Amino acid sequence: MELTVNKSKTFTHTDLGAFGKFLQDGPGKKVSKQFLRDLLGLTGMEISVTAYPPATATPFFHSHKQNEELYIVIQGEGQMQLDDELIHVSEGSLVRVLPECSRNIRSGPDTDLVFLCIQAKQGSLEQCNKDDGVRQNREFAGSTK
Ligand code: ZN
Repeated sequence: MELTVNKSKTFTHTDLGAFGKFLQDGPGKKVSKQFLRDLLGLTGMEISVTAYPPATATPFFHSHKQNEELYIVIQGEGQMQLDDELIHVSEGSLVRVLPECSRNIRSGPDTDLVFLCIQAKQGSLEQCNKDDGVRQNREFAGSTK
């Protein structure tokens, strides 16, 4: 999939399109995967968007040396294996996985599975929300149409 990326001084923007369509953008119904760190220039996290057709698993189990991961299922359903435990996942499932956990994810026998995986160094977030956000007194430019 060829993506157009608009880079400005302070933000980077692209559109993957509808997540349901993301699966179809590959040739036939094959796995679609897009890593966002290099695409968007992320510096504190890696995010991947993955779409599996039915009955598809990541071809290997893996763990990490220092990064925790958050899997966010945004469409379809399937299973994750976390060490020796199997869990069912579906749209809205949020699964945090510690670095050392052996993991894999697969779609169901008859369902697609589209998910985000966000990884960041465990323990690296020093502040967020009120400690980092700086409220600014501004209005949107232009109207909503
Ligand atoms: Zn991983």
